[in-house]
Amino acid sequence: MRKFKTESKKLLDLMINSIYTNREIFLRELISNASDAVDKLYFKSLTDTSVQLTKDQLGIDVSFDKDARTITVSDNGIGMTQEDLDRNLGTIAHSDSMAFKQENAEQQGDDVDIIGQFGVGFYSAFMVAKSVRVVSKAYGEEQAWAWESDGVEGYTIEAAERETNGTDVILTLKDNTEEENYDQFLSEYGLKDLIKRYSNYVRYPVRMEVEKS
Ligand code: ADP
Ligand code: MG
Repeated sequence: MRKFKTESKKLLDLMINSIYTNREIFLRELISNASDAVDKLYFKSLTDTSVQLTKDQLGIDVSFDKDARTITVSDNGIGMTQEDLDRNLGTIAHSDSMAFKQENAEQQGDDVDIIGQFGVGFYSAFMVAKSVRVVSKAYGEEQAWAWESDGVEGYTIEAAERETNGTDVILTLKDNTEEENYDQFLSEYGLKDLIKRYSNYVRYPVRMEVEKS
C-alpha cells in the first residue's frame, strides 16, 4: 500500500467530508479528464504519423452496472504508465488551486458557487465512491496497470490487463444513507441527465452504454 501524500490526504478528507455538497460534479470531472486524455493523443497524432486514430477512439464511454453498483468512465486516450498513476493520482494535481478554493470558501462561507467555478479533479470521485479502480495502459506501452483506493489512507498499483491504450475509471458507489441517495446515479436516466447537464463543453461524443444483462 502506498500512502497518499500528506497534503492530498487532508484535501481528500476536506472534499469528501465537508465543503463539497455538490456531489454529482464527479462525473463532469471524470469526463473532462477523459477528454483531456483523448486530446493528448489527438495532438500527438498531429505530429507523429505512427499514431493512427479512428473516429471511434475520439469518444468517451460511460456505463453502469446496477448489481455491482459501479459506474465506469472509459477513454482510449493517452493512458498512464505505472509512474503516471503514482504521480498523478497519488497527489492532488492542482493543490495550489485547491488551497485557494478552500481559503475562499471558508472566508466567504459559500462553498458551492466558488467550487463550481473550478475543476476539483479526480478526487471528487470519492464523494460518491467507496472505492475507485483505475485501469490504464499508456500509449505505446505493453503493460497495463491498475490503481485502486478507498480514498482513505492510500492506494495500490498492480499489473493489470487492458487491450488498448486508454483508461477505465471504475467507481464502486457508496451505500445509500438517509441523507444521500447514491443509487440515483445507477440508472440510465440519472446518468444521462448528468451527462447532459455537465458535458456540453466536451469536444468528443460522450456515449452512454445501456446496462448489460
Ligand atoms: P487535472 O485534470 O486538473 O490535472 P485531476 O485531479 O482531474 O487534475 O487529474 C489529475 C491527473 O491525473 C491529470 O492531470 C492527468 O495527468 C491524470 N489523469 C486523470 N484521469 C486521466 C485519464 N482518464 N487519462 C489519462 N490521465 C488521467
Ligand atoms: Mg481534471
